[in-house]
Amino acid sequence: MDWQGRERFTIFDSGFGDGARFRAVLQAWRADPERPARLHYMALGAGPLPGFRRIPQADPAVTLDLLNAPLDAALAQIDARLDAIRLQDIAGSGFARALARLAAPGAVLEAHGLTDTQAHALAGAGFGCSKGADGAIHAVFTSRKPPSPWARKPEAERRAIVLGAGLAGAAACERLCARGWQVTLVERHAEAASEASGNQAGIFMPLLSKDDNIMTRLARAAYLYALDYWSTLGGVGDVITGSRCGVLQLARDAAHAQVQRAIAQAHNYPADFAQWFDSAEAGALAGVPAPDGGWLFPQAGWARPASVCAAMLAACGPGLGRRTGVGDVTLERRDGLWSALASDGAEVARAPVVVVANGAGALQLAQTAALPLAAVRGQVTHVAAGQLPALARVLCREAYVTPAVDGWHSLGASYDDDADPSLRATSQAANLDKIRSMLDDERIGIDAPLAGRVGFRCVAPDRLPLVGALPEAAHAGRVERLRQVPRQPGLYGLLGYASRGLCWAPLAAELLACQLDGDALPLEAELATALDPARFLLRARRQM
Ligand SMILES: Cc1cc2nc3c(=O)[nH]c(=O)nc-3n(C[C@H](O)[C@H](O)[C@H](O)COP(=O)(O)OP(=O)(O)OC[C@H]3O[C@@H](n4cnc5c(N)ncnc54)[C@H](O)[C@@H]3O)c2cc1C
Repeated sequence: MDWQGRERFTIFDSGFGDGARFRAVLQAWRADPERPARLHYMALGAGPLPGFRRIPQADPAVTLDLLNAPLDAALAQIDARLDAIRLQDIAGSGFARALARLAAPGAVLEAHGLTDTQAHALAGAGFGCSKGADGAIHAVFTSRKPPSPWARKPEAERRAIVLGAGLAGAAACERLCARGWQVTLVERHAEAASEASGNQAGIFMPLLSKDDNIMTRLARAAYLYALDYWSTLGGVGDVITGSRCGVLQLARDAAHAQVQRAIAQAHNYPADFAQWFDSAEAGALAGVPAPDGGWLFPQAGWARPASVCAAMLAACGPGLGRRTGVGDVTLERRDGLWSALASDGAEVARAPVVVVANGAGALQLAQTAALPLAAVRGQVTHVAAGQLPALARVLCREAYVTPAVDGWHSLGASYDDDADPSLRATSQAANLDKIRSMLDDERIGIDAPLAGRVGFRCVAPDRLPLVGALPEAAHAGRVERLRQVPRQPGLYGLLGYASRGLCWAPLAAELLACQLDGDALPLEAELATALDPARFLLRARRQM
């Protein structure tokens, strides 16, 4: 293979097939002493769930994306520079201009089964074509067009401070270290996962909707990525404390069940992703009456967030330095670098890049205080095993309850609009009420002592995370587009994980790492845009 002397080489293939071509390219890349440092293979897949899917690889130098979308739709959503393109038996001719938008200067193209019209379209779009003896079209992209305006510049120096050692920060450390960055993790507590990420058990599951909206697509991409990613770390139930025991989400009432049935019919999900069951089967799966049926997510379950953080930090290797137990840190930009300063002014760390992953702490940090984030109190209740029916899987409706873990069920969590950090009886009573109603047993937890944990979720108005360069709100002026919003140099956010931190953390960290390195994104461009921390500035402006 001619790697064209590139440091990173990105291939687009119009069909993944059985993966034989990907494996052959991988073999050629491994065997070649002149190979580029990073290999990225993206191919249209025929997966049963729509959307781009990044498949974590054991070798961090290799990236594989399966794009489950028709060709034109996929090309419109790719944010990458393509060095090699392979097409086979494709339809239409709109692909030619789309490829010209993505092709790097000098990119090579090989196409099989093209019509003359399609070959002309390629030539017209800047591909210098010739026909080989095998009938295939071979082309080089010769256009001198400037790169597309959204081509990102990678950060020049790969050194970062990650502020916050919860799920968001630990995932950022792992994804950056895997790419060879030098990272200093800064945390006010002595231990990681001491705040929102400190619950005994959190649940992970996908989200469904009739119109498969942006939130649903993002949540699905994050959930599927997280499942694969945790496996590369050693697995849930092994290195990660938890279980992929399945989550059964019960319908609230007959009307809710009706909507769920319509969703099941419209989307025909693969059985290992989501299955709808009517009353009798759902009741058998739940072990309690389920009069309105429910969804089974067979691969979902619960995990202890602290063990996920520990696994991610352990995977970082020598690229990670830790400055924990340093108290509340502030950030200051000095001579083109960021300094993390302790309350006595002492410098804790210094780097050209900062990833702000400090959860609800972002509300107090000068650089993020203007973001429309809220700290939402939540209380999880712990009930001793034996006080509830033995559960084979997580059950949820208005609240969730886990199987007993080390002798305790976790249930909840409350959503309260105050900042009380202590456990309180009213939140526990509200949690227990919901579980009693779901399990149809008035006696549950009657004598349960006050037990559980309080935490604060970091929540954005649209409940989506914030991933990317942080805006310079004061200098935004009258901008109309996200790419016109001025950003604070070297300052990035991983915030707003709300109630889904387990699932968001891996994909959001991968997305940010790609942005920092100027790599192709693991998501459709429109989904990545939906996470841009500057989105609220534009929305506010449009409402003016
Ligand atoms: C009650 C409750 C139940 C939940 N249940 C689930 C669930 O079932 N499933 C699920 O996926 N998610 C759940 N969540 C959400 C999940 O816990 C969060 O989304 C996730 O933990 C957020 O991780 P984070 O790293 O952003 O924040 P955190 O875990 O809060 O980490 C931020 C870190 O930054 C540090 N920090 C902040 N400011 C500073 C500073 N100035 N200087 C130094 N350090 C600083 C903090 O000490 C903290 O360690 C729940 C949350 C709550 C509160």
